[in-house]
Amino acid sequence: MSDKIKFGIEKLTSFDIPNDALNHRFVKEIREDLDARNTENKLLDPVFGTSNVKKPELYGWSGSVTPHVDNKGYCYILILELDGKSVLSADHSDDIDLVRGDIICLYDYTHHSIEQTGNSIAMFVGAFNERCDEFAIAQLADGLIRLITHDYYNAPRYLGREIRSDECIVSLIGASSKRRDTLYSDDYSESAIKLIVDAKSDGDHIETCSTEGCGNYAISLDEHYPYFSCKNTCREHCN
Ligand SMILES: [Zn+2]
Repeated sequence: MSDKIKFGIEKLTSFDIPNDALNHRFVKEIREDLDARNTENKLLDPVFGTSNVKKPELYGWSGSVTPHVDNKGYCYILILELDGKSVLSADHSDDIDLVRGDIICLYDYTHHSIEQTGNSIAMFVGAFNERCDEFAIAQLADGLIRLITHDYYNAPRYLGREIRSDECIVSLIGASSKRRDTLYSDDYSESAIKLIVDAKSDGDHIETCSTEGCGNYAISLDEHYPYFSCKNTCREHCN
């Protein structure tokens, strides 16, 4: 067995987390979504996971997480908020008593678990095939600045986040690459989420619901978009 496989978790450094970062809309939203899952439906997954896109994402979980492996690689986690005591454990490593601001490197091929009460919110970047501490810490620092400055378009978001009432989906087909760079989307996306106010002032094509007689903005697109849009739905027609 290589040395690499014997690594589990390590605390690298810690950042000061200003309250401004915790007041960013995406952090408030994941906090509200975690609370809602706790009170309304305990059968839902208590973890808002990540897309592993190698750029900063938000990440949240509620209560303890039992031992599991993710089999993705080296992940970097910046703890933004903890409700109470939270202990991270992994194979081949000493437990870490998590503290707000901690930056942890986790090799997720090892079994890892968290023992805690309440909700936790973190920033995540990964997963990488090799350790890249310096790069990952710089990415997390950049993500934190985007939260502190209340940047909307390039601030870290979370998987499973639902589009809010002040947002819409715009078509990126024909959009210049310059504009594409300013939006939170990958190079292959044909659509992006924007604030309605910006989409209107930029003259974007806003996707609408395909239900007959409904002209509402779409909150989800046809699975075959952009080839088809006959199953685009608005909030009212999403079921
Ligand atoms: Zn509709």
